[in-house]
Amino acid sequence: KAKEQTGNKYQLYSPDIEDRSLESLQLENDLFKALDQEEFVLYYQPKVNTQTNDITGVEALIRWNHPKRGLLAPSEFIPLAEETGLILAIGEWVIKQACLQMRKWHDQGYTWLEVSVNLSPQQFNEENLPYKIEKIIAETELPPQFLELELTENLIIHNTDKTLATIQQLKRLGIKISIDDFGTGYSSLGYLKDFPVDTLKIDKSFIDDITTNSNNAAITNTIITLAKSLNLHVIAEGVETKDQVDFLSKHGCLLIQGYFFSKPVKASQFLNQYLLLTKNYQ
Ligand code: C2E
Ligand code: MG
Ligand code: MG
Ligand code: MG
Repeated sequence: KAKEQTGNKYQLYSPDIEDRSLESLQLENDLFKALDQEEFVLYYQPKVNTQTNDITGVEALIRWNHPKRGLLAPSEFIPLAEETGLILAIGEWVIKQACLQMRKWHDQGYTWLEVSVNLSPQQFNEENLPYKIEKIIAETELPPQFLELELTENLIIHNTDKTLATIQQLKRLGIKISIDDFGTGYSSLGYLKDFPVDTLKIDKSFIDDITTNSNNAAITNTIITLAKSLNLHVIAEGVETKDQVDFLSKHGCLLIQGYFFSKPVKASQFLNQYLLLTKNYQ
């Protein structure tokens, strides 16, 4: 017993833990300044029709160009941004930035391109989200049907009436809604008949071993069929191999996003590597 207590005590005062909290305190401090110091950057990952090889749109994914730590992935700071409430300001920046970039590409002639943006639950639950988005659409003059918000199912389980009202308000603006990481959340499928969503995004975890795991293959097929019968679009995320592409197209999912086609890239690279090339084919 005494030994156990000593064990706990040691853990409690472990320098390792002190370091970690100091580190996260520092990171929090840095995060507060990051917006002002323009340290965030959006990367864009193409969504591709595997039959035609057309890029239909991009998903905007945030990165933090930290002055000391280098380029940080969302998993390294989004949780902290959510804890501190900074996600509201950061999330608004993301939507604005994505719409501005899309406005530029549309002006350059790529008028079919759509952009999707990930939304944190806190953003979704913010009272004036529809108003903020309406304002951004007006300011950037992006036709609203080219903006899609990616929501996760876990966000949808709470507070059904209010959730429905918010989604309806957003849809009235003319923007699109997709359910990200579909199949991994806690919600029942029931919401799909009530909520006016446009797209189901099959989660990478099902796609990963789609060709070797018959359960995941079955789940993926079911999602594709479900989307078709509900008249929704369906896209597979995290597609890395030709075998996965073949499986998906054989089962009727032509839209993919994943390293097979491209990793998320900077706006300039997306223009040079993909958009300028597609223009040549027109
Ligand atoms: P997500 O929305 O499900 O985005 C897909 C993630 O999978 C991205 O990671 C993307 O880079 C990665 N990915 C795409 N294709 C492949 C592939 O073929 N193989 C592998 N291994 N990975 C692939 P990323 O950019 O690190 O973003 C992670 C998560 O962070 C996102 O998951 C999203 O939930 C969140 N996130 C990203 N940007 C934002 C943002 O602006 N706001 C909020 N609230 N969350 C964001
Ligand atoms: Mg997403
Ligand atoms: Mg996803
Ligand atoms: Mg995912």
